[in-house]
Amino acid sequence: MSALLQLTCFQMLIYAGMWIAGWVIVGEERRAVLHWLGFNLLLAVGLGLVSLRPAGDPWLTVVLANLVLAGAFLLLYRGGALFLRLPTRDVEATMLMLSCAAFAVWTGPVPTGPGWVHPGAATAALIGWVLLAASWRSRGALAEQFGPRTAWVALAPQVVYGIVQGIRAWQIFTLNASVVQLQTQSASNQALVYVSMLSAAVFNLVFMFLIVLRLMGRLTYMVEHDGLTGLLNRRAIETLLEREWVRWRRMGQPFTVMALDLDHFKQINDRWGHPAGDAVLRSTASLLRREVREVDSVGRVGGEEFLVLMPGCAPASAAYVAERLRGVLRARPVDVGAAEPVTVTGSIGVAAVESTDIDLEHLLRRADAALYLAKAQGRDRVVCAAAASGPVPATPVPAI
Ligand code: GH3
Ligand code: MG
Ligand code: MG
Repeated sequence: MSALLQLTCFQMLIYAGMWIAGWVIVGEERRAVLHWLGFNLLLAVGLGLVSLRPAGDPWLTVVLANLVLAGAFLLLYRGGALFLRLPTRDVEATMLMLSCAAFAVWTGPVPTGPGWVHPGAATAALIGWVLLAASWRSRGALAEQFGPRTAWVALAPQVVYGIVQGIRAWQIFTLNASVVQLQTQSASNQALVYVSMLSAAVFNLVFMFLIVLRLMGRLTYMVEHDGLTGLLNRRAIETLLEREWVRWRRMGQPFTVMALDLDHFKQINDRWGHPAGDAVLRSTASLLRREVREVDSVGRVGGEEFLVLMPGCAPASAAYVAERLRGVLRARPVDVGAAEPVTVTGSIGVAAVESTDIDLEHLLRRADAALYLAKAQGRDRVVCAAAASGPVPATPVPAI
């Protein structure tokens, strides 16, 4: 058994090395990674101490070993909570650890009589509880952040190993202590060590997998969103527009686009500085997001230019929405750190898709032309594009 335990201990050290590499190379989720590194290191130390039985000092190889193993799983739990942004429940963890220690001191490391219970009973119960409680408490967050299928994959091994440890705790309480001592060569002990080896491998893989998934999620977000405002970027909104265009062509489902350009934005930058301009952009973005429907999409397509895609929206209601947006924008001055909040206005061009639109480009040009008219007519207004009749020339908005 001793050789098998040492092998498992070595395996934990390899995982610990892997987390150190992950910590250095990836540099993401550092707090959780440190906890999982600690989990592997403590498991290695705990199993290393167990493998020294029966020669070593029993207070070290029995009592301390069990406390170190219990601590390892508390670290695993805490790392998971940090990773999923859940409460770490440190008071509960401390109470569990103290109970474990008190139990071990009460029983002592060596058998004192026929009714003696091995201190490992408390450790197994703690590990079982921690894994099952962690699975129960993190199921919602896991499903929300990674999807229900990933949540199942991540939680199943924890639940299984939690049950295994629960059974182990029950065995230690009810069976002869010497039989269940981990260093004793028996089929059930051997099975436990193999299951533990496998579980440790699976836990580490699952956490690595979750980190990779989170990184991929972040990258996807960065590719599709504008860093300053958090709105969709040009590329992402264009993809949605193309999808809407195809839906219109195939199923006749109409949609409307709205092009909004802030008025005299350059003056805001010139007068109050670039950070003030950025504050105005952020505030406009959150206003747009708040004011449109859930099914609508908002993108930042240029410096101070925004595009709103409104699927299934009839021209009349699109004009109404645009007018409301224009009104709200003007009515909510933005605090840019100047003496007075700055009143911001915008010009809006609205174009609903028409059967005469040759392609998506054509529709967008009509929206741009309407925006150009709104600027030319004095800004701070909404202009709805006329129905398409023939090609629309590209119209860069002039600074009038
Ligand atoms: P108009 O009413 O005709 O639209 O005039 P305007 O001043 O809004 O338009 P113009 O195109 O002349 O100026 C746009 C300005 O937006 C110029 C540029 O410096 C500024 N800008 C572009 N991107 C950003 C940004 O990310 N942050 C800030 N603060 N300013 C930006
Ligand atoms: Mg502009
Ligand atoms: Mg402008």
